[in-house]
Amino acid sequence: MSEEKVKVEEIFAKDVFTPAKMRERLPKNVYKRVKKVMEQGGELSLGDADVVAKAMKDWAVENGATHYTHWFQPLTGITAEKHDSFITHPDEDSHMVMEFSGKELIKGEPDASSFPSGGLRATFEARGYTAWDITSPAFLKKTGAGVTLCIPTAFCSYTGEALDKKTPLLRSMEAVSTQALRIVRLFGNQGATKVVASVGPEQEYFLVDKEKYLKRPDLIFSGRTLFGAPAPKGQEMEDHYFGVIRERIGAYMKDLNEELWKLGVTAKTQHNEVAPAQHELAPIYETANIAVDHNQLVMEAMKRVAIHHGMRCLLHEKPFAGVNGSGKHNNWSLGTDNGVNMLDPGDSPEQNIQFLLVLACILKAVDTHADLLRQSASDVGNDHRLGANEAPPAIISVFLGEQLEDVVKQLVETGAADRHIEGGVLDTGVSTLPNLKKDATDRNRTSPFAFTGNKFEFRMVGSADSIASPNTTLNAIVAEAFCEAADVLEQADDFELAVHDLIKEYLTKHQRIIFNGNGYSDEWVAEAQRRGLPNIKSMVEAAETLTTDKAVRLFEKFGIFTKAELESREEIIYETYAKTINIEALTMIDMASKQIIPACMKYDKMLADTVASLQAVGVTAEAELERLKRVAALVDEAQKALLELEKIEAQASAMTDIKAQAFFYKDTVKKVMEDLRTPCDQLEMLVDKKLWPFPTYGDLMFEV
Ligand code: ADP
Ligand code: MG
Repeated sequence: MSEEKVKVEEIFAKDVFTPAKMRERLPKNVYKRVKKVMEQGGELSLGDADVVAKAMKDWAVENGATHYTHWFQPLTGITAEKHDSFITHPDEDSHMVMEFSGKELIKGEPDASSFPSGGLRATFEARGYTAWDITSPAFLKKTGAGVTLCIPTAFCSYTGEALDKKTPLLRSMEAVSTQALRIVRLFGNQGATKVVASVGPEQEYFLVDKEKYLKRPDLIFSGRTLFGAPAPKGQEMEDHYFGVIRERIGAYMKDLNEELWKLGVTAKTQHNEVAPAQHELAPIYETANIAVDHNQLVMEAMKRVAIHHGMRCLLHEKPFAGVNGSGKHNNWSLGTDNGVNMLDPGDSPEQNIQFLLVLACILKAVDTHADLLRQSASDVGNDHRLGANEAPPAIISVFLGEQLEDVVKQLVETGAADRHIEGGVLDTGVSTLPNLKKDATDRNRTSPFAFTGNKFEFRMVGSADSIASPNTTLNAIVAEAFCEAADVLEQADDFELAVHDLIKEYLTKHQRIIFNGNGYSDEWVAEAQRRGLPNIKSMVEAAETLTTDKAVRLFEKFGIFTKAELESREEIIYETYAKTINIEALTMIDMASKQIIPACMKYDKMLADTVASLQAVGVTAEAELERLKRVAALVDEAQKALLELEKIEAQASAMTDIKAQAFFYKDTVKKVMEDLRTPCDQLEMLVDKKLWPFPTYGDLMFEV
């Protein structure tokens, strides 16, 4: 291990074209105009863009960059980049001038024909364009390909439809800002000019040894193990969680942190997670769109740094059956640009009433659009987690903590809340509203949407997924609730009375969404059903929620998605799902057919030979015979399932109705995959370890 000291202050944001660097390098008046666009929106003139582009390019080239890219997030869920170099046509003396124009900075035209568009952009109209998201700073990416200037962008079709995850997120941030401003204005905050959604995502991941990884086609092709018997030891000892970080992992985390700090990502906490070989990293929260970009950088860096350390990083939600999977806790709050966190109970009576109204609006939003929120956290891998007793159930509910729940109950029952569970004080200044201890939230790890003091923690999100969708949805549904509340309150004659009535009305109507108990329990599933809360079990079932009348109304009202955009997204979900399961099925066929079954047959033969030679000398060979029979029977079973999977998979991939196909993969193909896995995992427990064709769970998880 190297002894060199890391000076965090020196390396932090070293590879980012920060506003501070802009200020240094831009003429004062240009910088002022750029800053204004960053803060208030609008467009940069082409003249100014030229100046910014030159300054950005000079800085990048000084730092070794040869290329630039518009960095964007297509609907594949990962980021995309197409590198162009700064070089231009050399002059007569073969002098190379590196150039980068304002036009190139602001707008790019990647050949976008192979990105999913869900029918929005016919393939012959390949062009989409990328547009600079001026609020997310450009940065340098240093990889094997050299140094590249990355410009965070949104990605749209020529007719303006969003083809990415960034565009709707930015639209939703604007929507929630506009509506939230109406709320804070009602409470006398005239100084705020915008409300910012802040996000802090906690990212879980697994690390495995590279050599072992490379022996597992399932990890290579699908990011998760498709076969594997449980190791003798799992996570039952609970000795990994927050345990001492092993040397090799520690070195990895150190490099990862440094790399992230250089990129301006505030990697803050790191610890071991519940499962063996599982870890977590959390940055400090920041503006939603930057948090989304940074989370993508975190995921990329996790993978890249792992390679340098002879490991591979698994971001899949369920790399191993039987042990905890990985998720992402999406911490979310709303704050005004003059320093008020709308989710903080606050110190003054106005702030406390405002807090209760905000809370009531959020409960209403989450109850009304529980289906959309659940949808926003779905991806193929997350289907293995949600509802599987390790992550929140697939049912959306809100955890408020004992005291806040009591306040809500009183407000609903009597319209007043004057008794309060012991604790601090939330002074509302009016007798009909309660006093509330400020930090009264206990932790409930089983809740999908928990209030944690001054923010909500949305815990359903999958580890491999972009956090753009969950935050777009959160912003959108809360914008709607704020809008409806403001519509009423702005017209009220007696504001105090009206607020009070509205809080009571919302809480009464939507209290069914509150649940403080054990979200993993079967009783909750039954109780949620009684309450009429949706329990959407899979990604494909969740997809339909995007295009209900309710959803279209919501998203169109705030200009976040058009109906066509929603329809395209639904289609892409089916497509993604079908393709992913298809790859998994084919990988299983490959592994079973070329590796597992042949290995078992070898073992069969070994046993058969042993039995024959023992019996030839008059030994009954009972144990050998018994084992041989068991192995042979399981091989039969595996072979049958393999043939069935081949048949079903062919049937599935020939289907042309994309939605029906996705459902077929979910309901039929996955079942046959299980049928194949079961005998194979049993065989793993019987067959000579030396013959087993790839590393086992024990090898993968306990020897990193
Ligand atoms: P834990 O949930 O593990 O106890 P914390 O609550 O300290 O950890 O923080 C988890 C994440 O929430 C971090 O990324 C943190 O920066 C973020 N966070 C803290 N406060 C807020 C807030 N007001 N809004 C959004 N995110 C926040
Ligand atoms: Mg947390």
